[in-house]
Amino acid sequence: MIFGATGDLAKRKLFPSLYRLFSRNKLDKFAVIGVARRSLSNDDFQASVKESVISSLGNKEDLDQFVSHFYYQSHDVADSSSYVSLRNFADQIDADYELEGNRIFYLAMAPEFFGPIALHLKSDGLTDVKGYKRLVIEKPFGHDLESAKKLNQQIRSAFSEKEVYRIDHYLGKEMVRNIEVIRFANAIFEPLWNNRYISNIQITSSETLGVEERGRYYETSGALRDMLQNHMMQMVALLAMEPPISLTTDEVRSEKVRVFRSLRSVEGEEVKQYFVRGQYGEGMVEDVTVPKYRDEAMVDQESNTETFVAGKIMIDNFRWAGVPFYIRTGKRMATKSTKIVVQFKDIPMNLYYQTEKMLNPNLLVIHIQPEEGITLHLNAKKAGGHLDAQEVKLSFANTGIHAMNTPEGYEKLLYDCMRGDATNFTHWDEVAYSWAFVDKISAVWEKTKAAFPNYESGTMGPKAADELLEKDGFFWWPMAELEVDICK
Ligand code: NAD
Repeated sequence: MIFGATGDLAKRKLFPSLYRLFSRNKLDKFAVIGVARRSLSNDDFQASVKESVISSLGNKEDLDQFVSHFYYQSHDVADSSSYVSLRNFADQIDADYELEGNRIFYLAMAPEFFGPIALHLKSDGLTDVKGYKRLVIEKPFGHDLESAKKLNQQIRSAFSEKEVYRIDHYLGKEMVRNIEVIRFANAIFEPLWNNRYISNIQITSSETLGVEERGRYYETSGALRDMLQNHMMQMVALLAMEPPISLTTDEVRSEKVRVFRSLRSVEGEEVKQYFVRGQYGEGMVEDVTVPKYRDEAMVDQESNTETFVAGKIMIDNFRWAGVPFYIRTGKRMATKSTKIVVQFKDIPMNLYYQTEKMLNPNLLVIHIQPEEGITLHLNAKKAGGHLDAQEVKLSFANTGIHAMNTPEGYEKLLYDCMRGDATNFTHWDEVAYSWAFVDKISAVWEKTKAAFPNYESGTMGPKAADELLEKDGFFWWPMAELEVDICK
């Protein structure tokens, strides 16, 4: 059951992802009930599902067969009688398709409805099934720790923690899932994966887009809540966690939670030492002049909302003591890119100083999007002549999946949920620790008015974000230098 089936997420991601699963024979007995406010016939709904698959994947022979599994129910989320008729309809579909009472509820709706829907699903009997029941819930999971706790209580009164699948679509991305394989399947990395050999880790997730039509939502969120609390923190946890004793959901999650527990808390006066906020001004992005954030639709002319955040995260445990994890994310930046750079420490002594420049440090670059791959930066002898060292890049590129925002992430997550594998969904403890960390930063930012706008659109953010690293003797590796031909 998809709540919000006429919305943007359902159309752009969920239907194409379901189709891909169908075309790969991953869906055997299934039916989808689309639920939304407006009244719509089954035929019209099926036509809209078809259209969304075609616009994302092109026309397909078996599309009619696929959409024949889709049904529509117009629904008022606040009205019990709506849920009762939905329950009766679902019971009938269940019998027709022999679904054995297995039910997934996907909440692709505005977050204020998450709690009330979960409560109604229970009180109006939709969760009384003889098979499994699972709740998939979109971001944002609350606005801060307090609201997240309240939402969690509402959800947990209807579903157990094991039945709740909190989506963080970064965890569906191929290269984010690859982090643990790169780390735990290679004898050459894991022994070096600590503060003896790594000097710092940099995670950048930059967008060229502005706030688009999401101004109203974004004004209440900002980059800290929209990107850092969830996606960026999840990447930090995957990079920093200890090897789990096995790859079961509980073991992986508990190692991630231990990372969150080791985060050095940053509060009060310390916030400006560790975090930088920014808001885009006018500028040029891809040769087009774009307006400042404050001139976007539904945005306050005096807005104090950050569209950029950079931070230094310290993990106070044995493995990571002293190693900064620098993270930055923002809108209207110079490039559209998500990358992780693991910078290794310099070798103890440089025999090659006589060459024109210092040796480059070894880097392991994980390209998350739009390119997907790994690059290892080494030093090797320049061909010919003297013993000059030069940087060489060894590259691996995932072929096939190159487009930004492809539905593949959602496809994997939907499939995981159907199989009952919650490993790549966020546990409540991860959400709670992450909010507790972020709340202390937003508490300071909300109290003080920033001198916005402070970065030009089409740049890599405010100068203060560069200074954050410079004062530690580091710099952000320029995105352009990290690109390699095979990744393009
Ligand atoms: P949307 O506004 O496009 O769609 C909302 C859906 O909810 C529509 O189907 C609408 O009919 C339905 N709806 C709204 N009010 C209702 C009511 N009172 N009763 C019944 N139905 C009602 O939103 P969206 O962009 O699809 O986002 C849905 C959720 O997914 C949000 O939580 C959002 O934060 C999250 N999300 C969206 C994207 C994306 O790419 N669109 C990405 C990540 C997360």
